[in-house]
Amino acid sequence: MLPSPRIKGWCPGAWRPMATGDGLLVRIRPPMGELSRQQMLALCEAAEAFGSGLIELTSRANFQLRGVTDTTWPSLMAFLVEHQLVSADPEAERQPQLMLAPHWQAGDDSPTIASRLQTRGSELAAMPGKVGIAIDAGKAPVLCDSAADFRIERSTEGGLLVRADGHTLGTAVSDIEAAVEQLIRLTHWFVESGGWDSGRMRRHTAPLPEWAPADTAPAASGAKLALGSHPAGQVVGLPFGRATASMLREMLRELVAPTSVTAVQVTPWRRLLVKQKLVQGDTAPAVDGLIRHNSDPRLSIDACPGAPYCEQASVATQPLAERLSGLKNSSVHISGCAKGCARRSPANVCLVGEGGRFNLIVNGAADSSPVRTDLTESEALDFVRKLIEIS
Ligand code: SF4
Repeated sequence: MLPSPRIKGWCPGAWRPMATGDGLLVRIRPPMGELSRQQMLALCEAAEAFGSGLIELTSRANFQLRGVTDTTWPSLMAFLVEHQLVSADPEAERQPQLMLAPHWQAGDDSPTIASRLQTRGSELAAMPGKVGIAIDAGKAPVLCDSAADFRIERSTEGGLLVRADGHTLGTAVSDIEAAVEQLIRLTHWFVESGGWDSGRMRRHTAPLPEWAPADTAPAASGAKLALGSHPAGQVVGLPFGRATASMLREMLRELVAPTSVTAVQVTPWRRLLVKQKLVQGDTAPAVDGLIRHNSDPRLSIDACPGAPYCEQASVATQPLAERLSGLKNSSVHISGCAKGCARRSPANVCLVGEGGRFNLIVNGAADSSPVRTDLTESEALDFVRKLIEIS
C-alpha cells in the first residue's frame, strides 16, 4: 500500500510530498545530479500529466513538481519509478541528500565518491531530514555557498579532505575509500554528540573528535558555471528557479541531439548544464523564457514561490520580482515570509511579506529587522527603486 501523501513539517521528497498552497509538492533528487534526455522528457511529461506543469530547480539541485493532487500522486509515483527518476524503495529517500559539483565526467573523483557513498548508504547514521552531503572534489570546490552539512573537497595540496560545515578547515584523507569511511564515521559522531538537537552541522557546537582534526585548508573556491557556452554544452538559467515543462522540452529540442545519452546536469544555482557539443561556429539557439546571458537582470533577484504556491505566504513574490528586474545591478530578495527560503545570505534590499503587506529590510536577510513595515506593493516598489537609484 502507498504511504499517505499528506505530510507536513518534514523535508519533502517524492514518497513524502508536502502539502502547499497549490497542491502537493513532489521533490525529485536526480540520481548523481544528472538526467538523461529521456528522463528529462519524462519529467516534463509527469509535470503536465500529474501536476500543474511547473517544474522548479531548488538551491539543493533538486527538481520539484507542483500542483500534484492526492488523486494523481499514486500514478505519478508509478511513472517516476518506471523512468528511474525515483527509487521504488521509499526508504532510499531517507538517506541524506548527496549534492555533486556539476560538470563532472565519468571517472572523476566526485561521481566515484558519490557512487561509493550510495553503495554504503545504509552505513550512514540516521540524521535529521535536512542534513545533506556535498561531494565537491573537482579541481576547486564550487559548492561552498550551497547548503550541506558534510563536504568532501579538494585541499590546497590537491588531495581530498572531509569537512564538517561550520568549520573552515577539514581533515585530509589518503584516498576515496578513506574519504567515504571518514564521512560515514563523522555522521555517527554527529548523532552521538547531539546532532538531532542541533538539527544541522553548522549549529552543532560539540568539539570535533580527535580523529577528525580540522587542520587542512580546502582549495580556493572556483567560480560557479557561467551562462552560455560551456566546454560540455550550454548553461541555461531558470528565472527564479522555475520553468514550465514546455519550456524545458523546447530547451531539449533546441539544444540536445536526440541520440545523446547523457544530457542535463543540475546545479544549486538555478542553472542547468545541457550537455551537447555544438558544431564549431554554431551558436546555441535561444529558448523562450530561459536565461542565456550573465547580464540578465533577473539573476540579481531571488524570489521564493510566494502566494498562491506556499501556504506560509500572504503576498505574491515572483510577479514583483519580474517588475523589479529592470533595475540597476543590486541584490534584491523578495520573500513570502521571514523564513527566507530563496536566499540565506543578506541582500542589498529585501522585501518580506507579512499579513498581505511588505516589510522592507536593507542589507539584511529575510529575518533581519525591517526599516519600514506594512507597505503596499506599490509603496514597496517605490522604496526599492529609490534605494537602488541612490546606492
Ligand atoms: S520563504 Fe516563506 S513564503 Fe517563501 S517559500 Fe519559504 S515558507 Fe513559503
